Amino acid sequence: MKTLKTQRIIFFFLIALGFSQLGCGGSGVNLYSKSQDVQLGQQVQAEIAKRPAEYPVLNNPTLRNYVQGLVNRIISSPNVINKDFNYSVTLVQDDKTVNAFTLPGGPIYVYTGLMKYVDNEATLVGILAHEITHADHRHSTQQMTKQYGLDAITQLALGNNPSLAGQIAAGLARGAESLTMLQFSRADETEADANSFIDLYQLPGRSWYPAAIKFFMIKTLAGGNSRPPSELSKLFLTHPPSQERLNATNAQAQKANLPPPTEAQLNSAGYQRYKAMLP
Ligand SMILES: [Zn+2]
Repeated sequence: MKTLKTQRIIFFFLIALGFSQLGCGGSGVNLYSKSQDVQLGQQVQAEIAKRPAEYPVLNNPTLRNYVQGLVNRIISSPNVINKDFNYSVTLVQDDKTVNAFTLPGGPIYVYTGLMKYVDNEATLVGILAHEITHADHRHSTQQMTKQYGLDAITQLALGNNPSLAGQIAAGLARGAESLTMLQFSRADETEADANSFIDLYQLPGRSWYPAAIKFFMIKTLAGGNSRPPSELSKLFLTHPPSQERLNATNAQAQKANLPPPTEAQLNSAGYQRYKAMLP
């Protein structure tokens, strides 16, 4: 009985701890603390580093610094909440995958396939801002709260489940097809799109066209979404493009009275120079 009582006390303590650290940006309940987001992200990052066959890193400082520079400018937006997360960029040398993903606590992975697929800097920036939102609004730990509740939190806190990070890394490499905890809900996707727009809209100087993520949606939707080409298959699993997403972004641009983008706000020419450096 004593054990049960102790468990209950720990239970309520953890719940109180979780609620006391709720972020103000997310839409769902999150029982995890921000430092647990960071901890989980670091564990998965270490696991990913052990799997060079699945995640071959592109060691090109010029390109990595370029993408890191874009990320650093995005997180300077007043709309980004968790500015202390570690939004460090890793480029994954895989032209056959058009995708990017973010780990809890910030680490961002960008596939060379995505960099080759997009036509201008602003589109890449829109996608990066979408990914940053998943970390910033702590969507992964919200999903884990929904699916695993307190159990996974205590396991994580006690280090009782070292395979958890491995499972996540393996799931990500497959496009998260078997690991539902990092598959975001449709609401998360909608929020990440909308918030990507706000991040860029509120950026001092508004250097990039805030609705540029729509060019990516238009391109991916162009081939129809019933049978995506193989390089888009992971994208369709993790971030299914849809006409609704495109309509929502268009509506947001219209509501903000955005004029059509200038070349300076898209930076197509500058982007081609970096694209040409890709192996
Ligand atoms: Zn997403």
